[in-house]
Amino acid sequence: MPATPAWPPRSAPRLFVEDELGEGREITIEGNQAHYLAKVMRVREGDTIVLCDNATGEWAARIGEVSKRHIAATISQQLRPKENVPDLWLCPALLKKDRYDTVLEKATELGIARIQPVITRRCVADKLNIDRATVLVTEAAEQCARTALPDLIQPVKLAEMLRDWPENRTLFFADEMGGKPAASAFSSAQGPAAILIGPEGGFDDAEREMLLDHPNVRPISLGPRILRAETAAMASVAIWMAAQGDWVN
Ligand code: SAH
Repeated sequence: MPATPAWPPRSAPRLFVEDELGEGREITIEGNQAHYLAKVMRVREGDTIVLCDNATGEWAARIGEVSKRHIAATISQQLRPKENVPDLWLCPALLKKDRYDTVLEKATELGIARIQPVITRRCVADKLNIDRATVLVTEAAEQCARTALPDLIQPVKLAEMLRDWPENRTLFFADEMGGKPAASAFSSAQGPAAILIGPEGGFDDAEREMLLDHPNVRPISLGPRILRAETAAMASVAIWMAAQGDWVN
């Protein structure tokens, strides 16, 4: 079954909008999105675009009047309902901006349900521009034709996250010091899951002890080499998606 329908063409611009969408509704696209459609994608009256609202799903829309800062669109038909996102969270320790951008974008493409940034002792960065991160995740979701956005949560300290950890969710701890091979760990654990990735400097002994003491935590290995955090994030999410996610149709 094709991931996205044959019509409109895959080249049709895709956007997440704030408005709730429905057949026959008229919406006005403004600001940067209007500029992108008018100046980059050069849409014209009568063109078809694809809109998502992260609530009802994906819709075809017909372009009406086009001006520099406003574009009118009429919602014509639903193309796909909002997808069920595989129940995997990624808990990546904050990294330097460019590398974290890669984590945010690739986790979105790979199908993650929630990104929970974590602050650990060796984090170089200690805050995240959540508005900028939201734009980046949204653009990645538009590019890879998701019909649902990942949840993006404010950063939390590791100890707090563990204290409040949901009891029905397994937390796979990517431990550079070793653990169960990721593929078999993921295959043998059903249900809601999360993957924790450390910062450039890894986890310190006290953090590792705290993690290994937690009832929901399972240490996993991503092989014999030391991966960059962003590589570890991408690789572990991909392995989980293949074992337990929606890459098995
Ligand atoms: N500088 C540290 C490594 C940090 S790598 C050192 O030299 O030990 C950043 C993060 O990626 C780690 O904290 C871990 O979560 C993950 N990671 C990297 N390689 C890994 C591996 N082989 N197995 C499991 N996790 C790994």
